[in-house]
Amino acid sequence: MAKSPEVKLAVFGRAGVGKSALVVRFLTRRFIWEYDPTLESTYRHQANIDDEVVAMEILDTAGQEDTQQKESHMRWGDGFFIVYDITDRGSFEEVAPLRSLLEEVKRPKNVPLVLVGNKSDLDHVRQVGTEEGERLAAEMACAFYECSACANEGGTVAEAFHELCREVRRR
Ligand code: GDP
Ligand code: MG
Repeated sequence: MAKSPEVKLAVFGRAGVGKSALVVRFLTRRFIWEYDPTLESTYRHQANIDDEVVAMEILDTAGQEDTQQKESHMRWGDGFFIVYDITDRGSFEEVAPLRSLLEEVKRPKNVPLVLVGNKSDLDHVRQVGTEEGERLAAEMACAFYECSACANEGGTVAEAFHELCREVRRR
């Protein structure tokens, strides 16, 4: 199997949306309930995607960075997740500004991006409709996944990571 260069992925989104839970779910197939919210970490991981071994580095941001720190993370990354929490409308409203900053930092490059609506297991307290997420993703011309780091039905979390790796490697 061919070995390919490292893909750098960064995870953005308001504090509390479940960025760390998603990354840990992807890496360990487990759900960790409480994760230090101020923690910023990078992880290395290898996955078999479309019969190729893809080495990736994943930056789990804290979501409380100032603009300068965000910009530096954006310069570092090749591909990006913007995560919101379907039970937190405010987190959805932070998506567009993050996307604008990303475009600005990466200009004139086309930025590999995946939009994730997390906590789909909490449908009974949902504040953001699935169609709203789909519409926003269409506007941003990116893939969209609604998922749950905790339930992870159908392995959607890994699917989202794999799709972002593909996006990066297509560029
Ligand atoms: P981060 O600040 O974006 O890294 O968010 P965390 O991963 O620390 O998660 C914040 C809180 O949301 C924690 O209490 C998690 O247990 C919870 N959480 C994360 N993902 C999910 C999910 O998919 N479903 C539910 N019900 N809770 C989640
Ligand atoms: Mg976190």
